Amino acid sequence: MNTLAIRHVLLDAQRTGLERLDAQMLLLLALGRNPNDRAWLLAHDDSLLTPDQATRYAQTCERRLRGEPLAYIAGHKEFFGLDLQVDARVLVPRPDTETLVQWALDTLEVTAAGTSRPLRVLDLGTGSGAIALAIQRSQPATDTWATDASADALAVARTNAMALGLPITFREGRWWNAVPGERFHLAVSNPPYIEPDDPHLQRLTHEPPSALVAGPDGLTDLRDLVLGAPSHLHPEGWLLVEHGHDQAGRVRALFRQAGFANVSTRNDIAGIERCTGGQWLEKP
Ligand code: GLN
Repeated sequence: MNTLAIRHVLLDAQRTGLERLDAQMLLLLALGRNPNDRAWLLAHDDSLLTPDQATRYAQTCERRLRGEPLAYIAGHKEFFGLDLQVDARVLVPRPDTETLVQWALDTLEVTAAGTSRPLRVLDLGTGSGAIALAIQRSQPATDTWATDASADALAVARTNAMALGLPITFREGRWWNAVPGERFHLAVSNPPYIEPDDPHLQRLTHEPPSALVAGPDGLTDLRDLVLGAPSHLHPEGWLLVEHGHDQAGRVRALFRQAGFANVSTRNDIAGIERCTGGQWLEKP
């Protein structure tokens, strides 16, 4: 028996507690192959790893077993059909957030029907740039801006924009402070919204806490976003935000108290109330 044969390496991985899918992906990475090409592994399960490949694989398995996200190990994450570079400077884009992008695109379609100007869109706290880039790629006529309080995160987002050839205007700063005097037709954000004592955080120790955790009730940043929006939205402009699984009612209340109209919530792919938005109808 050769323990460096792919078949044995994968069997072994399961004994260490690694998920089969993760082991397959890490093995493909170590082999320098497309990490999604699992069919190749199945077709070549008696191939042998070189000692270098085996070492690379063992090192990444260790990182994964310590809880590091696969996306950081691979250095990439797919989001809304885009290949994004990610590392520990930014939150790993989640499929849940594709709900927010789809809602933004639906909103832009309706808004575009009533105006001939290029629509101005803002992604607040862009992280890897995922939301801004997905919108700009799907709606190339929009003028998309993106902000982050973290210069490190903006560096990642800029790299992604460059690699994808998408024009985004970046600004550094905390929420609306990054765009003084600017107005937008649509603003979107996936801010931190996890409460500091949420046990869920124990599984998220590798991602930047500043992208995950917010104030005592998880709503501090959502509140700043909602309250600051009216002076940065064009009349009839929209604000759409992502929030926690049990925050929808409280976030709708924030929007209504701030004077927003047409306040509603959309579910994510798991059927959980994940995004809430509203329209600013009054001229500020
Ligand atoms: N949805 C992420 C999670 O629960 C958190 C993202 C965020 O705080 N914006 O893992």
